[in-house]
Amino acid sequence: MDFNDTPEEAAYRTRARDWLESNVAEHKAQGHADDMAAARAWQARKAAAGYAQITWPKEWGGGGGTPIQSVIFGQEEAKHPVQYGYFTIGLGMCVPTVMAFADQATKERFVGPALRGEEIWSQLFSEPAGGSDVAAIRTRAVRDGDDWVVNGQKVWTSGAHYSDYGILLVRTNPDVPKHKGLTMFWLDLRSPGVEIRPIHQMSGGSNFNEVYFTDVRIPDAQRLGEVDAGWKVALVTLMNERLAVGGGGGAGPKEILKLAREIDAAEGTLLQEPAFRQKLADWWVQSEGLRNTRMRTITALSRGQTPGPESSIGKIIAANQLQDIGNSAVEAEDQFGIIADPALAPLKGLFQSAVMNAPGLRIAGGTDEILKNIIAERVLGLPGEIRTDKDAAFKDLKA
Ligand SMILES: Cc1cc2nc3c(=O)[nH]c(=O)nc-3n(C[C@H](O)[C@H](O)[C@H](O)COP(=O)(O)OP(=O)(O)OC[C@H]3O[C@@H](n4cnc5c(N)ncnc54)[C@H](O)[C@@H]3O)c2cc1C
Repeated sequence: MDFNDTPEEAAYRTRARDWLESNVAEHKAQGHADDMAAARAWQARKAAAGYAQITWPKEWGGGGGTPIQSVIFGQEEAKHPVQYGYFTIGLGMCVPTVMAFADQATKERFVGPALRGEEIWSQLFSEPAGGSDVAAIRTRAVRDGDDWVVNGQKVWTSGAHYSDYGILLVRTNPDVPKHKGLTMFWLDLRSPGVEIRPIHQMSGGSNFNEVYFTDVRIPDAQRLGEVDAGWKVALVTLMNERLAVGGGGGAGPKEILKLAREIDAAEGTLLQEPAFRQKLADWWVQSEGLRNTRMRTITALSRGQTPGPESSIGKIIAANQLQDIGNSAVEAEDQFGIIADPALAPLKGLFQSAVMNAPGLRIAGGTDEILKNIIAERVLGLPGEIRTDKDAAFKDLKA
């Protein structure tokens, strides 16, 4: 494992740092009507400089760079207050799927506007009956001339309420085993018959939606991949999802240490309590383990290798730690723990936000249990799950 930049990486980091410093200052000075307007402006600025999608080819507006350059830019960008989440799903998962499976004209129409933040995409996979088991989805598409007619329901669709387009996985053939009767399409989310209903969260926000389809007509020309071969297309999206879903959320051992110094306890501050010190030591060791695991990934990227399954391990540990630290901090804040307002809560409500977001992080992009299955089967080589539904026709499976 190598903790240092190579001379080329150090030079790239300096260039990225310099670009960020002057451009973040100009971006802030411009002033923007709202968070979305600021996000679009920042995305356009990055796209113009080749920093929007560093690993994408230049012909598609990317930076033509390497994964390690992307990591370096991400590390430097994280030091500035320009973290906007609106484009992560589109650029991380949906548009790469479009790039892999759409025709040239479709790619030319959509890749640039998405990259520049002009259009936003959603991923319409999960349904009430199909989450971890994506192949269990029931939303149905039936062929009618040059169109397909779609009926059904999606759920947990992040950002659908502000998105323009989506990639949609549907069942086109219920007479074959579940993985063999799916097809993928791209669609305009303002098509007649699409109804987007925001879901209200405990944080007060509404980032997810239920999306209903009633006789929605999608031209066959909007199909991504072959009819009934949507599982292959979905796997490309899901592989990118594992890379795009991030880790922790800023509420780590250093932050709770700061809080513990300020909170009164029976004798002195919370930091002097043996039970708390024990927990803090555990979090610290975990964080160092995570940091070293991330360095292994970065070292592999730096050497031009593909990182191994350690990202699955990292996500389980980071999401659980975030939840544990958030809960412990809010409990330690006692009656003040209930105040989530960033203007009033300690550390601008960092821990309150961790309490509300960590449960979702443990589910999104692979639940703890699914990631443990992956580690058991692919890392430890343990026997796979017994799957009795693999060869049965989908229509014969229990609902
Ligand atoms: C923050 C967030 C954002 C999301 N954004 C999107 C989005 O934009 N688009 C989209 O399509 N979906 C999205 N989702 C949905 C997400 O993909 C699903 O919630 C996830 O796949 C889990 O599916 P489920 O909720 O149906 O739970 P289930 O799959 O029903 O699982 C329920 C429980 O059973 C466990 N379990 C299931 N199968 C197994 C097994 N084989 N072995 C052991 N345990 C098992 C699970 O781990 C879990 O604990 C989002 C979810 C979250 C939390």
